[in-house]
Amino acid sequence: MAAANARVGADAVRVIILGAPGAGKGTQAARLAAHLGVPKISTGEMLRTAVAKKTPLGEKVHPVMEKGNLVPDELLVALVRERIAEPDCDRGFVLDGFPRTLPQALGLEEMSERPRAWVVFDFEVPREELMKRLSGRRWCPTCQATFHLLNNPPRREGTCDECGTRLIQREDDHESVVAQRLHEYDESTFPLIEYYRTRARMIPIDANRPMDVVFGDLLLAIEVRA
Ligand code: AMP
Repeated sequence: MAAANARVGADAVRVIILGAPGAGKGTQAARLAAHLGVPKISTGEMLRTAVAKKTPLGEKVHPVMEKGNLVPDELLVALVRERIAEPDCDRGFVLDGFPRTLPQALGLEEMSERPRAWVVFDFEVPREELMKRLSGRRWCPTCQATFHLLNNPPRREGTCDECGTRLIQREDDHESVVAQRLHEYDESTFPLIEYYRTRARMIPIDANRPMDVVFGDLLLAIEVRA
């Protein structure tokens, strides 16, 4: 598919993962994408990379992200449009953290064929569990791998299994910022569950279970996809 045309092929596997911060979207998206042999597109990771490299986009979004607010829709839609026009997305992709608002969902619909063929997972996790997960989450600033002090500890304490970098806490996982991120989720992203219920294959997932069990459910749902 030509890069100038941001529409992906009609038979591609396209997955959206909805869920609050800390629901495990990133971890499962990475596993699912590797299993399906398609790219994982994480807007949070793309933005954090831009921040770390101090690109013009990074400089613009950093103050927004550090407060736990959502980055403006036009920027996100443009970022995803450009990314899914790349040839590695021809066979599909797994989206992690996008769309997060109604205008983003509409933007995505404009750039894709057969939106009804999308698989949309909604990861459900009780609020108190989300707080525990976010406070124990540790992150690699080099390769963006994510760990958890209790649920998914690295092999060597404080060190990334993938690249050996010292793990840190993401600045937006600090308690003061988490409340605002959850508020943004409730206000802007939660309504998308209703939106997708009638427009795509929407599958609620109890994500408050061990990672392998959740992953098994995702695979099952993908395999029976129309
Ligand atoms: P995440 O890693 O998905 O939790 O995203 C981290 C932060 O990046 C969010 O709190 C937002 O500030 C920003 N961000 C990521 N994806 C989006 C999006 N689709 N729309 C708006 N802001 C986003």
